Amino acid sequence: MMETRIARGADGGELPLLVSPIIPARFRHGFTTRAGGASRPPFDSLNLGWRWGDGAEAVAENHRRLLAVSGATAVLRVSQVHGTRILRARGTDAPGLVAAEAADGLATDEPGVGLSVHVADCTPILVACGRTGACAALHAGWRGTVLGMAVEAVQTMRAHFGCQPSDLRVALGPCIGACCFAVGPEVVAAFASAMPAARDNGVIVSPTGTQEHIDLRRFQRLQFEAAGVPPENIDVSADCTFCDPRGRFFSYRRAGRATGQSVGFVVRAF
Ligand SMILES: [Zn+2]
Repeated sequence: MMETRIARGADGGELPLLVSPIIPARFRHGFTTRAGGASRPPFDSLNLGWRWGDGAEAVAENHRRLLAVSGATAVLRVSQVHGTRILRARGTDAPGLVAAEAADGLATDEPGVGLSVHVADCTPILVACGRTGACAALHAGWRGTVLGMAVEAVQTMRAHFGCQPSDLRVALGPCIGACCFAVGPEVVAAFASAMPAARDNGVIVSPTGTQEHIDLRRFQRLQFEAAGVPPENIDVSADCTFCDPRGRFFSYRRAGRATGQSVGFVVRAF
């Protein structure tokens, strides 16, 4: 269960974040909402996407606020391409060069290196290992999900940092829910092919009986479990970016166009 917390930065600034109690305290982390930013409609107000038509000054101010509450020296991001490549980040990396990398995840075990994922319906996934201090931020829309981003994440954490799957804590943040993610037959076929039991285990559902929907977080959870992450180490947000009754999230599908992006971030504090 995610909870809302007001994060405070060293500069005195405040930002509401959704946080997960599953992530160990040695990490700072959170999922942003639309609240607490400087952007005007339709980007109101905490739009963190640079290429969506919002004013650069407002986006820069929003990133300044995010950096302040993150406690990181920099919050890195990559050019997300709906794949499963996870880049290993280091404190010496130039943020601009990392941002030019085509990838969908970042991982590190260095303190102070902020990792972020940008979303507006896709799932932001945060992974943390309390034993080794390694962490990761991952972007998973339907393509990255069905390609096995969860499996890739567990393998990357083991290969780079020696994390055992049983050490990992996973937070699946706000994204489009099974309630609203109606898809075409080609998407259904991709999920049925990747997971033959997808209809039996609730990944492919039909809430209205007319069209099939995909539960992205259900698939991701099942893959993390199959890769050895204990079920109790996985925290799944119940929030749907599309139909949230309080409109707390940016949703590409709901708006029918780009109106902003939120961020999931994690940083090893010590
Ligand atoms: Zn919904």
